[in-house]
Amino acid sequence: MPYRSMPKFDTGLVELGDGIYAYLQWDGGWGVSNAGFVDSDGDGLLVIDALMAPSMTQEFVRAMRTVSSQPFSKLINTHSHADHTNGNQFIEGAEIIAHQNCRNEMLDAEILAREAAAKSPPRGVKPGWIRDDWWEELAVVQPPIPAVTYGKSMSIQQGEHQLTLEYRGEAHTTGDSLVLFADQNLFFSGDLCFFYATPLCRGNLENWIDICDYLLESQIETVVPGHGPIGGSMEIADMREYFEVIHTRTRQMFDTGVSLKQAMEQIDVGEFAKWPESERNAMNVAHLYALWDRN
Ligand SMILES: [Zn+2]
Repeated sequence: MPYRSMPKFDTGLVELGDGIYAYLQWDGGWGVSNAGFVDSDGDGLLVIDALMAPSMTQEFVRAMRTVSSQPFSKLINTHSHADHTNGNQFIEGAEIIAHQNCRNEMLDAEILAREAAAKSPPRGVKPGWIRDDWWEELAVVQPPIPAVTYGKSMSIQQGEHQLTLEYRGEAHTTGDSLVLFADQNLFFSGDLCFFYATPLCRGNLENWIDICDYLLESQIETVVPGHGPIGGSMEIADMREYFEVIHTRTRQMFDTGVSLKQAMEQIDVGEFAKWPESERNAMNVAHLYALWDRN
């Protein structure tokens, strides 16, 4: 792959046509994710993901209010991660929809948060990737959990728009949804797509490669990723190549008895090491070792 650096994009709304909008956040790094919404005549707003820190979600809500004063009707969580779901409580009145595994992951996280809150000092240690100002804001956040779930796929009619939630197995997490607008040739992928940045795997990297193939075969033109600028098949192909490289090189080390610690230190992903969040390379190696140790 010729190395491609991230094209500059602004935080804010991008109209994709027919009342469908992406909301992007520069620069797509840790905790800085994308969202979207659909403004449908008389059927309220359908929102896709809710961002992380309250200030981010409030900014997103303000942007939506420049387009529409309709009430929120539905909120889709593409997966459980805090940077997509912490803002749920600010999409007031929306029915929250997700894959059943996303709901389960959020229930588990809620138990852990409750345990952490009961400890002294409360909330435990701040994860390294969360900025201090976000950590302060997040003290009051208790994201509502999706009440409506599905297994394989779910069809939603929102005003004049028909969209489909699709589950294609574990990949970034155990419960990732693709949100497809077939008539618009458009996917909101959640974190099944990271563009121009190192993807992070918490589900199953091998199945994630199959999902990249599925996305490429679908020939959908426009993809709003979970992090980074809007893209399409070129960016998906880059991401697939990254997975192929890290998978092959990690497997060689695993098969020749290289320890996990050494593999994490030695992993060489070539040009892909220039992508932001390169610390995730070692995390993805650890994920693969754990996956193969289980089998
Ligand atoms: Zn994520």
